[in-house]
Amino acid sequence: MQPVAAQVDPGSKTTGIALVGEFPQQGRVVLFGAHLHHRGEAIRQRLANRRARRQGRRQRNTPYREPRCDNRTRSPGWLPPSLHSRVENVATWVKRLASLAPLSECHVETVRFDTQALQHPEISGVEYQQGELAGYEVREYLLEKWRRRCAYCGNEGVPLEIEHLTPRSRGGSNRVSNLTLACTPCNQKKGDRTAAEFGHPELQAKANAPLKDAAAVNSIRFAIGTVIRALGLPTAFWTGGRTKHNRIKQGYPKDHWIDAACVGEAGAAVSLDGITPLHIRATGRGKYQVGRTDKYGFPRGAAGRIKRVHGFQTGDLARLCLPKGKYAGVHTGRIVGIRANGRFDLAALGGKITATYQRYTLLQQGDGYAYA
Ligand SMILES: [Zn+2]
Repeated sequence: MQPVAAQVDPGSKTTGIALVGEFPQQGRVVLFGAHLHHRGEAIRQRLANRRARRQGRRQRNTPYREPRCDNRTRSPGWLPPSLHSRVENVATWVKRLASLAPLSECHVETVRFDTQALQHPEISGVEYQQGELAGYEVREYLLEKWRRRCAYCGNEGVPLEIEHLTPRSRGGSNRVSNLTLACTPCNQKKGDRTAAEFGHPELQAKANAPLKDAAAVNSIRFAIGTVIRALGLPTAFWTGGRTKHNRIKQGYPKDHWIDAACVGEAGAAVSLDGITPLHIRATGRGKYQVGRTDKYGFPRGAAGRIKRVHGFQTGDLARLCLPKGKYAGVHTGRIVGIRANGRFDLAALGGKITATYQRYTLLQQGDGYAYA
């Protein structure tokens, strides 16, 4: 069998995944592409909601009391639940793909830029060598360090140019400690002056300080890399600078699955022909809450103890055939509400349709993900 690599480009909202096969004649060909949409923000909001209700409930009639001890510890490698879910989503999908395809290796983009390339004292002609890999690493580093905004006016969302604090014409070097990002108007206004002469003496100290939290910036990506490596496949880690370099050199548009296909050294020549990415949305597996509450956080009744009714469960993909009535026809969608009396809600037509279980056909059991 030909080698097949799973390639992953982790993102905070969406992670790109690609399976790339290597064939003797065609070279490297993308076999499968997917966008994995995470639910990190939903988790964060629900936990914040729960915390607010609990605090409200406890403090309603209770005067403030000093905490008696601090005995809460977190295990090493602990991640907040919203981040943890992202890591686990990616691990789940690499595992699933490994069961469907003869995976021989994994390539993961774990960092945005290569700090090794930056420690090279002199990276010459950064602006003039956009085709060079080092230029991309420097750009990504500067974007992260200067928070993707103009260092002089603070503008965001405008095209940014790499700018020398002390101009080249005045003896300034191409070291990253002499580089910043500026919008075109600021860059032109500054002209031949140094940053201090332009009225921004504080920038030099900021530029001298290395980006210490480069590891923290990439913490989720590292966690994803660690989890994938633990699956037992040979795993290689790459930088985002290289991905971008590969993608632009091949003239591909920016998309998560295309970025995934372009990860790493081998991503420099990949064929994408005829691939439409599968959209995978993490939906969770329903509530685990035992007691239901009213809107004030007071317990109001217990949750149903049965999750599965007549072989159906919330989250299942089902087809509903209604011979007559207002919604007559065939509808396909997710079951969003299960009742013990056998009447289920189906998400369809932009709302809900309620019908008895005899009208439903199970297409796919809910597995915590929705597909499009
Ligand atoms: Zn500016």
